Amino acid sequence: MTETAHTGGRQPVTNWARNVTYTAKEFHRPESVEALRALVAATARLRVLGSGHSFNTVADPGGEGVLVSLAALPPVVDVDTSARTVRVSGGVRYAELARAVHAQGLALANMASLPHISVAGSVATGTHGSGIGNAPLASAVREIELLTADGTTVRLARGDAGFDGAVTSLGTLGVVTALTLDLEPAYEVEQHVFTELPLDGLDFEAVAGSAYSVSLFTDWRAPGFRTVWVKRRTDQAPVDFPWAAPATEAQHPVPGMPSANCTGQFGVAGPWHERLPHFRAEFTPSSGAEYQSEYLLPRAAATNALRALEAVREEFSGPLLTCEVRTVAADTQWLSPAHGRDSAAVHFTWADDLPAVLPAVRAVEAALDPFEPRPHWGKVFTTPPAMLAARYPRLADFRALARELDPTGKFTNEFVREALELP
Ligand SMILES: Cc1cc2nc3c(=O)[nH]c(=O)nc-3n(C[C@H](O)[C@H](O)[C@H](O)COP(=O)(O)OP(=O)(O)OC[C@H]3O[C@@H](n4cnc5c(N)ncnc54)[C@H](O)[C@@H]3O)c2cc1C
Repeated sequence: MTETAHTGGRQPVTNWARNVTYTAKEFHRPESVEALRALVAATARLRVLGSGHSFNTVADPGGEGVLVSLAALPPVVDVDTSARTVRVSGGVRYAELARAVHAQGLALANMASLPHISVAGSVATGTHGSGIGNAPLASAVREIELLTADGTTVRLARGDAGFDGAVTSLGTLGVVTALTLDLEPAYEVEQHVFTELPLDGLDFEAVAGSAYSVSLFTDWRAPGFRTVWVKRRTDQAPVDFPWAAPATEAQHPVPGMPSANCTGQFGVAGPWHERLPHFRAEFTPSSGAEYQSEYLLPRAAATNALRALEAVREEFSGPLLTCEVRTVAADTQWLSPAHGRDSAAVHFTWADDLPAVLPAVRAVEAALDPFEPRPHWGKVFTTPPAMLAARYPRLADFRALARELDPTGKFTNEFVREALELP
């Protein structure tokens, strides 16, 4: 942390979990798009901070760079009820977006496990929820507005050349000032939690496909899954879940944490945005003091991948708070971890103890390696760049797009230069 990188000259700027401190020489919160444009034009190296929920340095511009938050810009959430779309500005979080959309009788197709994250930051890293038919949150984006290096605004719509590189782009092409998202009519969801699902004999396709959105949780300290969270749209078939017993008490994904922080369970129907996330908007999500890692691999390999993890569970379960297994439908974004493959996502919430976490991360990566996992861009991973490159068939196209929109590398940082092998 440098002396000058402070919020208003007082607080160091950190991520949500306070275990990543950004090293930027300056931190800015412009209050108008004009001030933002002037800042971009006058700055050689700049990264945008969303809601700071990533667990690595993806947002950090480095000691010579400027970190900018869009949180002080006037928020825009413009719902178009006839087109069933919403245009949101770059600093808006899912919680406020969901409330505004629901008030108009409309809905998003899916959400992540928490609503506290910014829309622009989430789609930038390939953030996803769960569901065999649900692609990452970026798949809802139909248009992106980017403030690029020379201060001009570039609009790219679905179908335009370069669009598939522009949404999940790790903040590397410019400042996302607005996004337009697809909506659908509002729907209700029931959440049912089941306990103690064995891994032996698991029919992953059937379990993961038993409802609109399904998550399996385990601490890997014993074989099998401690809980399965089954989120059923009330406009779809009733839940038939013969593999495990319903929970008799309200659950939290991290054993021992208060279930009051979680969205409604026991099959009580509620609005989509109050059931699809695991965590309620008004409470601290997850455990608060933690790291996270996550890997997306072909869904057809899920059972073998889970068995490979079970075989070495003692090598990584020490610092593990909980592990969540979800499904993510394939999407077309070039840098999406679900690019071109229907995926299973294996997520790890770790204790806030990096020296213990890193060996566990390496053990997980070694076990999953035969399944060519792609790490979540916003979480802890140690996958070498050459291996990442081999897993992203459109990486060369992304590099060309980055060169075109940002020829001087204004929006790069050490993280993306290394991970994407950018100049
Ligand atoms: C408790 C918890 C639960 C989580 N649950 C999930 C989950 O269910 N599914 C999942 O996939 N992930 C999950 N994540 C990870 C999280 O969704 C991602 O890290 C996401 O990127 C966070 O968004 P953010 O706005 O906080 O991004 P930040 O961490 O602030 O930034 C991420 C990237 O986006 C860029 N960026 C942000 N805003 C802009 C902008 N306006 N213009 C250009 N670039 C921008 C930043 O520069 C950076 O590169 C979780 C994280 C936490 C802490």
